Amino acid sequence: MSRKFLKTSNCKPINLLFSGMDLSYDGMYKVSTIKTMSCPCRSGKQYEACCQIFHQGKNPDTALQLMRSRFAAYALCLPDYIIHTTHPANPQFFHDTAEWTRKISEFSSHTEFKDLEILGFQESNISATVTFVAHLLQDQKDVSFAEKSYFEKVKGRWLYRSGQCVPLPKNKDTFA
Ligand SMILES: [Zn+2]
Repeated sequence: MSRKFLKTSNCKPINLLFSGMDLSYDGMYKVSTIKTMSCPCRSGKQYEACCQIFHQGKNPDTALQLMRSRFAAYALCLPDYIIHTTHPANPQFFHDTAEWTRKISEFSSHTEFKDLEILGFQESNISATVTFVAHLLQDQKDVSFAEKSYFEKVKGRWLYRSGQCVPLPKNKDTFA
């Protein structure tokens, strides 16, 4: 539990407004105040029994846990966590952390994270892939996508190495 990942002050994760939680946003509410909600990674577990420990600094044991906790971090607007768990060789890695934080915050604030569907997961000692569908809405528009993510274990810690878009599975319900 070495570090906590905090949201930036300009984050207003709108998905929480749709999660049945009666939250009033004061610009800086703490993750601890929302620990009784169901986890935004859509595992069906409570946040405190799921991704919260990772957001509080514990390293996920598996790449799948990392992937889920990153989805939850986007939903909760924790840009710090996204940055900390991205491999420096990832094409999406920005060296301008302030700008990157701003971009993540903007994305999180304008996106509803409706569901996460895991289609596949393979892991070896040092690398892993997770294929998933992220069900997202932006301005009532379905912006869901499917991705195959690659993860690498670096010094005992799983990191998001890269992602590749894959076709959305057919016959899946969307939320738009
Ligand atoms: Zn979770």
